[in-house]
Amino acid sequence: MELRLQVIPADISPMTVRRTPHRSGIAGRPEILVILGSSLTVFAILSIVTFLLIREHANAYQAATRSATTIAQLIDADVLRTVELYDLTLQGLIAAAQRDDLKQVSAQIRHLVLFDRSVTARYKGDILLLDKHGDVLADSSLTDPKPGNFADRDYFIAHAFNRDTGMFISRPFKPRCDCDDKDEWRISFSRRLSSSTGEFLGVAVASMRMAYFDQLFNSLDIGTDSTLAIINDDGILLAQKPFLEDNSLGKNLAGRPNVVRMLREGSGSFNGESSADQQQRLYTFSKVGNLPLTVIVALSIDEVFATWRRTAIVISGATGVLCIALFWLTWLLCRELRLRHTAEQELAQLAATDALTGVANRRTLDQTLRHEWFRAQRSGKPMSVLMIDADHFKAFNDRHGHQGGDEALRALAGVILANVHRPTDLVARYGGEEFSVILAETDNDGARQIAERIRADVEQLPLVGGDELPMTVSIGISTWTTSSEMSLEQLLFAADKALYQAKEGGRNRVVSAT
Ligand code: GH3
Ligand code: MG
Ligand code: MG
Repeated sequence: MELRLQVIPADISPMTVRRTPHRSGIAGRPEILVILGSSLTVFAILSIVTFLLIREHANAYQAATRSATTIAQLIDADVLRTVELYDLTLQGLIAAAQRDDLKQVSAQIRHLVLFDRSVTARYKGDILLLDKHGDVLADSSLTDPKPGNFADRDYFIAHAFNRDTGMFISRPFKPRCDCDDKDEWRISFSRRLSSSTGEFLGVAVASMRMAYFDQLFNSLDIGTDSTLAIINDDGILLAQKPFLEDNSLGKNLAGRPNVVRMLREGSGSFNGESSADQQQRLYTFSKVGNLPLTVIVALSIDEVFATWRRTAIVISGATGVLCIALFWLTWLLCRELRLRHTAEQELAQLAATDALTGVANRRTLDQTLRHEWFRAQRSGKPMSVLMIDADHFKAFNDRHGHQGGDEALRALAGVILANVHRPTDLVARYGGEEFSVILAETDNDGARQIAERIRADVEQLPLVGGDELPMTVSIGISTWTTSSEMSLEQLLFAADKALYQAKEGGRNRVVSAT
């Protein structure tokens, strides 16, 4: 026997007829909560690590500034003491030179008296007494001084033209003697010899070998890329270890931005780029007492932050791995949650669906009826129920067998579904060859139209092989409105009763409950 019944397309399911109540928002998507949670955790971890690294960086900077300040203070104290010793020598020499009675004594005695207060320092060079023309009057190393003129030296000019110079510290220079150490740099300390009226009489000058600074700087360990330096108030470089440029001793650095800042501020510390080798350095500087000298400790930033950088790399690496692992676990968890969610949805759909026809089953019908009933009570909008029953289906079964009957039921479900369009409507198999349709917010006229269309479409279904009569349905309608004062049971009973009347009336018709 050939069957020519319309079969429901596979994609028609209760979900296409009516929305299933499911959890909405974030609570319905646990993976969003998991992603949010792990993102927050990663953010917190990164924030804490960043905070700690920034704090450690600041600590390293502070510690470096402190140790640079200590180094500057050590140099400061040593230089101050040394310069004071030279100043004492000069003051003694001037006091002795101003004694008139010295002219009468022998050269040896005069020499002894003049240099009586001369200190013996390790790096001390010659101490000279010059007249107002710059000629040597006395020399600490020779009783009978060698003739010489130093009128061109910066210190002589400074004192000759300015009576208020005080103690003058010269630029670095090389001695003009034929001595062994003639290639060794020196600086000199000098004071003016004035008459009682302030007239320029000459200069007392003591030189010091620059090896003093080498020895002083070498005693301090500051790292390979860091430097120690001393400049005078004019920005002349007096000493440096190690030298960053060739022939920089005695060079005027006053035009360099870092030097300008240091001379202006006197003491302090800052971060800056060296003009000599473009390296970043932490400059800590301080003035030596009241002297026109500034000590500079320039620590290499690379060295200052070397330990911090190593720690930062290790901690950042470990944090990165931790965060990646966390994200990976999150991804795994989300995948599992998604799989579970899909499986749950499939199960829920199966539990809500009639296996034969694919429309909602009795359980879903009961739930939805209650839900829509209460919704109608709240909104006051009408609600209709259709009870659809295949006519003479027992006989149909007898003619075409149970399989033929099943095909016909599927075709019937397809026709009903095709006539119900709103997302809030529900088509369900009530049982056997009976179907129910819930039409929310639909009055009796609307329900009647839909029922009539269903009835007519079923009649138009292709004839099953051998049959001469088309398949038909009888439909009972009942509608709840605010004025009807019906309970849900009464509503269903009314629909049933209308269906019974349709059967009684000859079948293949629609009857509304009165
Ligand atoms: P009426 O016009 O008065 O409704 O007559 P009817 O024969 O349709 O009514 P009745 O209640 O006497 O018989 C219903 C028949 O529907 C009984 C059974 O053979 C058939 N039926 C019920 N469920 C199924 C089903 O799942 N598959 C098939 N093939 N037939 C079914
Ligand atoms: Mg029946
Ligand atoms: Mg029937």
